[in-house]
Formats: sequence, C-alpha cells, structure tokens
Amino acid sequence: MRKINKPVIGITTFCKKETHKSYDKVSCSYIKAISESGGLPLLIPLIDNLQDAKNYIDLIDALVLSGGKDIFPLFYGEKPIDLLTKANPRRDKWELELFNRAYELDLPILGICRGMQLINVALGGTLYQDIAYQYNNDLIHLAQDKDLDYVYHKVNIAENTILASILCSNHLSVNSYHHQAIKDLAPGLKISAVSEEGAVIEAIEDVDKEFIIGVQWHPEDLIELHPCFNELFGALVERARY
Ligand code: MN
Repeated sequence: MRKINKPVIGITTFCKKETHKSYDKVSCSYIKAISESGGLPLLIPLIDNLQDAKNYIDLIDALVLSGGKDIFPLFYGEKPIDLLTKANPRRDKWELELFNRAYELDLPILGICRGMQLINVALGGTLYQDIAYQYNNDLIHLAQDKDLDYVYHKVNIAENTILASILCSNHLSVNSYHHQAIKDLAPGLKISAVSEEGAVIEAIEDVDKEFIIGVQWHPEDLIELHPCFNELFGALVERARY
C-alpha cells in the first residue's frame, strides 16, 4: 500500500545531448505548475523497455505529456516532409505506450503542445507536418524570438466542453510555439478550442473519458502572468485524487 499523501502526477521528459553527455530533462515550468497545484510531480524518464510503461503508469495518478519535437510522421501513416524538425521516434514510441496504458486505466491525462498532438496520433488522428507549408493559413503560430509568456494569439473555447468548465474565460490570449497542428481529428475526440481566425485546432478532449485534455499552447509558462491557467493544472490534480 502506498503511503503518499497527495496525487502523484507523472510528467514525460526527453533525452538531450549536450556538450559531452546526454541528459534526461523537461522544462521546470511543468514541475512548478504541478507542485503549486497540490500535486507531487514525478518525472518519467525516457527508456526503451516499453513493457515498463505499465509500471510507470501504476506509480502515478495522472499523466502530463510535455512539449517537444515533432512526432515522426510514420506514426500517423505519412512520409516526412523537409520541414519536419528533428524528430525522436524513441520518445514517440515510449510516450505512445505511456498514453495507451494510462488511457486503459482511465487516468486523467493532460497533453501540452506536442503532447496534444500525441493524444490525437495515439487515437488515430493525423497532423499537418508544417502549418505554413501544408495548410493555407495566414496566422503564424510559431512565435520565434519571443518570451515564453508572450501571448501571441487568441483562442475561443467551445461551449459545453470540459475545458470551458475549467477555465475562467471562453476567450483567452495564449502563447504559441508550434509549426504543426492537428489535421484529421481522431475518432473519440472533440475540438474544445480553435484559434481566433478559426483555422487551427488549439485544444481537444476525449468525449467519453472524464479528463483527457490537450492544449496546443503552453499554460505552464503563463501561470505567473495569467493565473487563469492555474485552473487547468488544479483541475488535473483534483481529478487525480485517489
Ligand atoms: Mn497557436
């Protein structure tokens, strides 16, 4: 029996080679957001033994799929185009396995940026590999050379969604650091937010599960300036209570 007195929230990480060594890491903003919302953040390292995904999921009460590089297109049945940024199929395989195990057990799941795209791919959807190249849309979503909390465009939250019941407003300004977007929405998901011009899917949720939410922006980098986004992490920790 566990003796932990608060919900354990797993956060996925990535392996990055620096000058001499490789480090497993994730943005500290996720850790801070979960900790300040009353959860116990637990970083899940990137490993190749897919059978251990179930063991990690058994350790946690909710899962955060963090942001990162593009998902390798073969995972949604497409060949890569030139504009794909450096993909990491190792991470894709591991996180798809984590998602599937968490999904089976009805764990609350929050996917952020790449994490939202991963939820869509895991459930059978597809992505635009590059918005500007593949999709006729004038609004730029990749905020280069901007601070992480720079609000770049607005999103409209759809009524009668779990997301609308959580956030303080249905019309929010968000940051935007993505050059990819959802193309075909997976069966079982619905759109819970779109960008202000209506063209890009900015949030999704599972229609059957209690809390499987993906957002294309980075709420973890906005909570200092825009406390509204605390509510998203607060709701995840609340649903994770065991
Ligand atoms: Mn965006």
